[in-house]
Amino acid sequence: MTQTGTKPVGTEPVFVSPMDHYNRELIANLHPADWVNPTPAQRYNLVVIGAGTAGLVTAAGAGLLGAKVALVEKHLMGGDCTNVGCVPSKAMIRSARVAGEIRRAKHYGINVPGEVTVDFSTVMERLRRVRTEISPNDSATRFQQEFGVDVFLEKHGFQAQIQSRWRGKRCDLRKRRSPLVPLLSICRSKD
Ligand SMILES: Cc1cc2nc3c(=O)[nH]c(=O)nc-3n(C[C@H](O)[C@H](O)[C@H](O)COP(=O)(O)OP(=O)(O)OC[C@H]3O[C@@H](n4cnc5c(N)ncnc54)[C@H](O)[C@@H]3O)c2cc1C
Repeated sequence: MTQTGTKPVGTEPVFVSPMDHYNRELIANLHPADWVNPTPAQRYNLVVIGAGTAGLVTAAGAGLLGAKVALVEKHLMGGDCTNVGCVPSKAMIRSARVAGEIRRAKHYGINVPGEVTVDFSTVMERLRRVRTEISPNDSATRFQQEFGVDVFLEKHGFQAQIQSRWRGKRCDLRKRRSPLVPLLSICRSKD
């Protein structure tokens, strides 16, 4: 695998609104501004594009089995699940459930004085806190140190040139025109 160069990614920082202390810590774990991509190895057993749920599990599993793994992420490690999907939605649902339970309290013989109101900014602040507390699990540092994975954080996504071999033919992923074009079609004859 070749790459455009080893560099700190801090020149193009990732933003997550609002940039409060929770989101700054989130970014420090999931796309650190001072991250320096490792020098690419000559060969990888596995190159994973995208550090969402699928990519993280695949990279960690392969790394633990001793494979030489590269993991490329253009935005935040953890992908949708950690950042906008599973984790934040469950934090919000938890708040909604509490509000609902209190509104139905009388049904269970509990008297709650006054009207139940929702402070949405506090709901969202808790969401950001929960997400940040979970983020070390998906951090670039953890994947590099604990699973031995080469983590490449690339703001503009996957740009590397990959060459692999399939049945003795040399395959060049850079020439792939669309995900629907099978890899086989860009494999050259034996060389
Ligand atoms: C609101 C919501 C709630 C959810 N709740 C649950 C739940 O409770 N339980 C559950 O199991 N699932 C839940 N999901 C689904 C879950 O989020 C997805 O199934 C999961 O995120 C899919 O993981 P993935 O790795 O396939 O893709 P993604 O999480 O989308 O990750 C893809 C990654 O690839 C990166 N990427 C893309 N292109 C490139 C490129 N060219 N170069 C480098 N990187 C690239 C992206 O930045 C991203 O980080 C929820 C989803 C949503 C939206």
